[in-house]
Amino acid sequence: GSPAHATTLHDNHEAFVRAQGAIPGGVNSPVRAYGSVGGDPRFIASARGAYVTDVTGREYVDLVCSWGPALLGHAHPAVVAAVQDAAARGLSFGAPTLGEVDLAEEVRRRVPAAERVRLVSTGTEATMTAVRLARGFTGRNLIIKFAGCYHGHVDSLLAEAGSGVATLALPGSAGVTEASAAETLVLPYNDLDAVERAFTERGSEIAAVITEAAPANMGIVPPAPGYNEGLRRITSAHGALLILDEVLTGFRVGPSGWWGLESGMVAGALPEYTPDLFTFGKVIGGGMPVAALGGPASIMDQLAPLGPVYQAGTLSGNPVAVAAGLATLRLADAAAYARVDHVAQVVGDAASAALAAEGVAHRLQRSGNLFSIMFGDFAAAAGVRNYAQAQAQDAFRYKAFFHAMLDAGVNLPPSVFEAWFVSSAHDDAAVERILAALPDGAKAAARA
Ligand code: PMP
Repeated sequence: GSPAHATTLHDNHEAFVRAQGAIPGGVNSPVRAYGSVGGDPRFIASARGAYVTDVTGREYVDLVCSWGPALLGHAHPAVVAAVQDAAARGLSFGAPTLGEVDLAEEVRRRVPAAERVRLVSTGTEATMTAVRLARGFTGRNLIIKFAGCYHGHVDSLLAEAGSGVATLALPGSAGVTEASAAETLVLPYNDLDAVERAFTERGSEIAAVITEAAPANMGIVPPAPGYNEGLRRITSAHGALLILDEVLTGFRVGPSGWWGLESGMVAGALPEYTPDLFTFGKVIGGGMPVAALGGPASIMDQLAPLGPVYQAGTLSGNPVAVAAGLATLRLADAAAYARVDHVAQVVGDAASAALAAEGVAHRLQRSGNLFSIMFGDFAAAAGVRNYAQAQAQDAFRYKAFFHAMLDAGVNLPPSVFEAWFVSSAHDDAAVERILAALPDGAKAAARA
């Protein structure tokens, strides 16, 4: 026990009431509000390894992992030490630092096609900048995105978005201008014919296709074999850029992200395809605000100060945040990924088996070590391939499952549209606690 773990006990409901008086909905990011599962969001006081502790002192095995960043678990001692060290040398300088160079070089080592890397603070900034850069580079305006993919709260990318937009069942967002929406073409996921058609009709106007490397914001929907490669082929044929959004998958599904898994980078083989731009976030900051975009110098050098596409940030490349990211990536070795893969396999299989034992119709969806369970009657063989299918879920069963698991001490994502995240700190004891809770969860789902 470290002294940092000492917490004053609070009433969780009181905390939520107080929060709602000061913060819209009591939260600073919508999905945290338990909107679709009901009840009061747990206010977290501290976290360590595989566990989070709420303000009442109750501990949960965590399957949210800060929505991805905590690849090594919470408060890894070496990461915390790196942060403390950096903080002692100054919080922010507004001038370049060698830590930023180290981090950019580490990204390039893992993803060589990211010859140049610009650091920003959030995934939203990364995708926003990638879209602006694609428009600046091509001189075209239209962007293709896919229904159910989430790329942050960029105006032009909120149409039919996943994550909280899906949880709240919104078509998009108020406050986005018609002009902005008109410059976004939304297509169904996993349908290359639809992409071909859009390019046949408007190819000369399309600046870029942006896609989640492996969608994880409508639940997990794996790209069909050859899908990303097909996007590469079509965009190249029409002079448009391909933006591979690896904010969630990057450095989580493997050392070189989803693209690394898919392209055989891990084995050192030549990539099957290479996107023009990558966006990264989450793990790259190890729990602190760091995100990035990367690509070939020929495109990235269009960014200011070298080129005409403007992008900036007072806190971009913040030295404390960068220290957390760098320490995390340096610790994310083959053994760490092997553990995350193993835990994901065991927990996914066990959850599916527990639900099957209670006769709950569901489907386990996986993309590497990312997984989610879709509640409902899905044709087992084909799986869920797009947003329209993912939307047809029995959300009420997930709600019951979620609360039974929470009561049993397991913190699941509070929406059926989110991935379950595990970490290398999920040891056998943590996994056992999850497995022990599953029968209760499955029974509650069956009764719902
Ligand atoms: N892209 C993807 C694929 C994401 O999953 C997210 C966040 N969940 C974002 C972009 C936006 O990142 P941020 O929340 O850091 O703005």
